[in-house]
Amino acid sequence: MDSEINIVKKKIRKNMIRIALVYPSTYEASLSSLAVHMIYYLVNTYPEIYMERFIYTDKDVKSIETGSPLRDFDYIIGSIHYELDYIYFINILFRGGIEIFREKRKGKPLIFVGGPAPMSNPAPLSDVVDAILVGEIEVLIPRLIEILLDYHRDPNRILERMDEDGFLVIKDKKITKRIWTKDLNQAFYPFRQIQSTNKEPVYGRGLIVESARGCPFWCRFCLEGRLFKPYRIRLFSNLKKIIDKGLRLNKLNRIIFYSLYFLGNPNEKKILEYIIDEGLKASIPSIRTDLLDDENLDLIWGIGQRMITTAPENISLYGERMLCKCHKISDLATILKKAIKRGFDLKLYFILGIKGESMNSVRENILFIKTLAKYARSFGRKISITINPLIPKPKTVFQWIGMIDLEKARRIIKIVRNELGGLVETRPYYVNWAWVQASIALGDWEVSRLLVEWGLMGGGLGNWRRIVKEHGYSTKYVFNGWEYGKTLPWDYIVIGEYVEDVLEKEYIVMRKLLSFTSS
Ligand code: SF4
Repeated sequence: MDSEINIVKKKIRKNMIRIALVYPSTYEASLSSLAVHMIYYLVNTYPEIYMERFIYTDKDVKSIETGSPLRDFDYIIGSIHYELDYIYFINILFRGGIEIFREKRKGKPLIFVGGPAPMSNPAPLSDVVDAILVGEIEVLIPRLIEILLDYHRDPNRILERMDEDGFLVIKDKKITKRIWTKDLNQAFYPFRQIQSTNKEPVYGRGLIVESARGCPFWCRFCLEGRLFKPYRIRLFSNLKKIIDKGLRLNKLNRIIFYSLYFLGNPNEKKILEYIIDEGLKASIPSIRTDLLDDENLDLIWGIGQRMITTAPENISLYGERMLCKCHKISDLATILKKAIKRGFDLKLYFILGIKGESMNSVRENILFIKTLAKYARSFGRKISITINPLIPKPKTVFQWIGMIDLEKARRIIKIVRNELGGLVETRPYYVNWAWVQASIALGDWEVSRLLVEWGLMGGGLGNWRRIVKEHGYSTKYVFNGWEYGKTLPWDYIVIGEYVEDVLEKEYIVMRKLLSFTSS
């Protein structure tokens, strides 16, 4: 605690409501999570509540703020971004002395979770948690707190009162709609952010600035683009205020931007100009390749960033048709070469191994990377690539299509490594973990039991295989997709903003594409 600044300190009074914020990943990752900063400071604006943080460590499960055990808290809120973090969440609860199974726990304490993973599929934690928070923090958390304040110590009334949009109470399983923040410029923002004096956040030290939310594109595989629809931007005045005030309060001179579609609006360009004029430094997130024009490259250079992260995904015609990234494929090489010539190193993300993808399509991508890597070498620049097979996610059309078989995925990785070894730093995603991740992401209600057992065993690939086998649980849906028309656990959550309608239409197109390739 002494090694953090901006921590919230409160005197624990007898009637104070104590809420644990559990982030089931490392401390360094928690420092880079805007959700953690946002929930923590928002909840702690209520004088009658004290929220303290818990992260995953192998040490005793104690809060960062006061060293209190987890069982001293009245409520637990989990912020979960990634499916594989479920096991750490379960592990924290177990080691913290909390009854894991909801039915046995009987609301002592009530556990709520939010974040992209549970919001896209409520099933994996359905045996554990009481409710899923379906929506965005600024609008959901105040509603939740209001309910907790009204009915504190009466778990049944709390859950009854949560019968409204934004909450999926697991025992009731009623369809709920996501709620989202209409105007980011008017919404709460954590100007203060927790700063560690001795640990480096995963994205480095700096003020986290979310410059926009959502994305206007409809890439078929992208869950995040859908969960945060519609695309919303911050005004220049709002961005400037966050930066000026945030840097001062946090004693920083570097900004870290978060946005799914960075430089997609003029305010983001303007704020980079402001940063350059002020002599500040900044880092930007992954950027769409087609946004790397001369003007943007100059701005990125000006803020001191020398590496560009971008995701061409798959440059073959088949890849483009299936993923619908809406890139003009013929322009990609020219754009990336321009970035290399300008002096940037590149970090590229590829999805190789889409259902129905031929080896010719994979080879086309390899040739593309090879040519680019040779070009980069001639300018003394470096390219690194991350490759994974398409991992199907709920609320995307791949929930009905599935992923390629693991043998083919391994073959692709092997070919890529052989062809590109020595030329490009290649980071393939471990294929078996892609299967585990997809089994959980697309899992039905039954997967929760397996997950609990797995979490208690501390995770591990071998344990997952064993548990799946022992329970006779079939993960065929990972490869075949779910049957179209069958009710799926995430049908209880309506993302809205056309996400569900688009999904149906995409399926018709995809079936045609797949029948065409297999004929
Ligand atoms: S552009 Fe990026 S963030 Fe937007 S939908 Fe496509 S993959 Fe997702």
